[in-house]
Amino acid sequence: MRKISSVIMACAMCLSMAVVGTVAPQVAVQAEETATAELKEAPTETPTLEKDFGYEWYLIQYSAYTANSENTKSWMEKITSIKVNDAEPYTKVDNKFLMKEDTFRANVSMVNIIIGNKEFTKNTNKVVISAEGYKDLVLEVGKDYKKVAIHTNHTGGTATCTKKAVCEFCGEEYGEYASHNYGGKYESDGTHHWKKCQNEGCDAATEKEAHKGGEATTTKRAVCEVCGAEYGDLKKEDPKPAEKPDKKTVKAKKVVVNKKRIVLKKDKKVKLKVKLKPANATEKVTFKSSNKKVAKVTKNGVVKAVKKGKCKITVKTASGKKAVVKVTVK
Ligand SMILES: [Zn+2]
Ligand SMILES: [Zn+2]
Ligand SMILES: [Zn+2]
Repeated sequence: MRKISSVIMACAMCLSMAVVGTVAPQVAVQAEETATAELKEAPTETPTLEKDFGYEWYLIQYSAYTANSENTKSWMEKITSIKVNDAEPYTKVDNKFLMKEDTFRANVSMVNIIIGNKEFTKNTNKVVISAEGYKDLVLEVGKDYKKVAIHTNHTGGTATCTKKAVCEFCGEEYGEYASHNYGGKYESDGTHHWKKCQNEGCDAATEKEAHKGGEATTTKRAVCEVCGAEYGDLKKEDPKPAEKPDKKTVKAKKVVVNKKRIVLKKDKKVKLKVKLKPANATEKVTFKSSNKKVAKVTKNGVVKAVKKGKCKITVKTASGKKAVVKVTVK
């Protein structure tokens, strides 16, 4: 039985070699193209594994004559390396009779791969099959060589915010990054605050957000209610309080009236013009007649002659500076 199958395999090998020989240039072009293209998926069919006790090698057998078998064969033709656990990769051989414990042979026409048995020492052994243009196929193979599964459930390793977890079985990164650690203080500039990831070697930062809240005074800028940084401008001096006499009045040093004496006929009026010195003095002045029966004066400084006689109009600031105007009514 074994002899017959060997004959079939040998014939198939001759045939496949002949085919490869004629299309070699085209294959080379395809290889260049796939180098830059996305890697194709390795077969997703789970093969069986048989130990051949007579020869000390093993068959990774895929189903033949199914819809998938042509794809599997295409992949098989591109196999470049097979690695068991972390040993040196097995050497590829083309002839079944050169098979040793650390060699492999892709038997494309039979849709199987013959591999040696070196380093099958673990309860679950890792068999990595690399094919040009394809993602690596990682098989989990039991110690009894009968259990075989495609390694899909990555396991172990610890993700950080800069590096995904590394699978302890196959060494591939998998899963998600861990969250950044934004537990620290806020960073800030004149307008924004943000946080940097506290984890070593991580440059991540939160999005910058504008400072907000707080209230500027004329002497202290607003303090951001989120990060505590001062920001913005000082509050501008409010011009209104300066005008309020009870708050900030500029006192007059001298009161100057445009007339020192006036002569009026009965019932005539004249308005006194008052200037304070210095010019920026803001005090209000009051007018007072020494004899209202002779001449009256309004709060705006309009003097009205009442009857013949003499009197004085006193112009006075709140702080006590004054000027006197002599009035004669004829
Ligand atoms: Zn894995
Ligand atoms: Zn981070
Ligand atoms: Zn802020």
